[in-house]
Amino acid sequence: MTDRYAVFGNPIGHSQSPRIHALFAAQTGQDLSYQAILAAKDGFAAAVRAFMASGDGPAKGANVTVPFKEEAFRLATRRTARAEAAGAVNTLSFEQDAMIGDNTDGAGLVRDLKHNLGCDPAGRRILLLGAGGAARGVILPLLLERPAELLIANRTEETAARLALEFANSFARLPGCAVDVKPDGTGFPGLSGRQFDLVINATSAGLSGASLPLPPGVFGPRCVAYEMVYGRETPFMAQARAAGARVADGLGMLVEQAAEAFFIWRGVRPRTAPVLAALKGN
Ligand code: NDP
Repeated sequence: MTDRYAVFGNPIGHSQSPRIHALFAAQTGQDLSYQAILAAKDGFAAAVRAFMASGDGPAKGANVTVPFKEEAFRLATRRTARAEAAGAVNTLSFEQDAMIGDNTDGAGLVRDLKHNLGCDPAGRRILLLGAGGAARGVILPLLLERPAELLIANRTEETAARLALEFANSFARLPGCAVDVKPDGTGFPGLSGRQFDLVINATSAGLSGASLPLPPGVFGPRCVAYEMVYGRETPFMAQARAAGARVADGLGMLVEQAAEAFFIWRGVRPRTAPVLAALKGN
């Protein structure tokens, strides 16, 4: 019997996950199926239950994307520390009566930075732009890499300040999550006169073509600028390039977070380079 997996979202037509997991399965010789499921905005839990009850083989797990990651967090019967810190779940594993919730986005970003881009966050001054779900998901994994500094900057300053305080006060005390650096939060005007080695754009500004009011000095010498949005050249990428930074988009993070989910489910870590190349059309 073939093990079954799916990704749930709304919309879901654009999802690359079925293609990525099919490539991983072929590469590692794993017998599984992976489908994309459009769930109604108020029908996520029902869609997951229907998926688990239907089909020829056992339902073993699911990925979850916008707008259901918070609902998946509540649906999970157990959660990993990194899912707790993210406040969101993008990977579910079905085990007998348990539904285990994890979040692989932060691990995906860190792996892309370290293994694909040769940019180890350790000892770097990191600027994280944005304070929404994507930013929240990567804070703990970044802190665990022991950067020199982590500053969260957001259009709405209070959200950045609240997020930084939350991590400084609570998550650093979770088992296995001891960190040296306490994040700080600010608005964009607070970036004036500051300089960073790694600037990560976790805002959705690029989706609407909006640019961010960043002082050019934020991109320090040999800075890496990471745009979580992928598949397009965003104003942030253009700004960073003009300031002399090395620029990457979020396609590598997408593939690496999928590889982490595949590893959780199957106990095998697929090679990501050929999959990344296939998605880029190389
Ligand atoms: P949210 O809606 O939760 O948060 C959006 C964030 O962007 C907020 O901080 C918001 O600021 C900020 N923002 C939006 N528009 C602007 C603007 N014009 N100027 C300045 N700031 C702006 O979204 P997510 O956190 O879930 O996702 C953010 C991005 O990350 C998305 O584009 C998504 O595609 C990408 N992503 C990529 C992944 C990958 O694997 N590559 C994985 C996950 C996400 P404010 O608080 O002031 O509203």
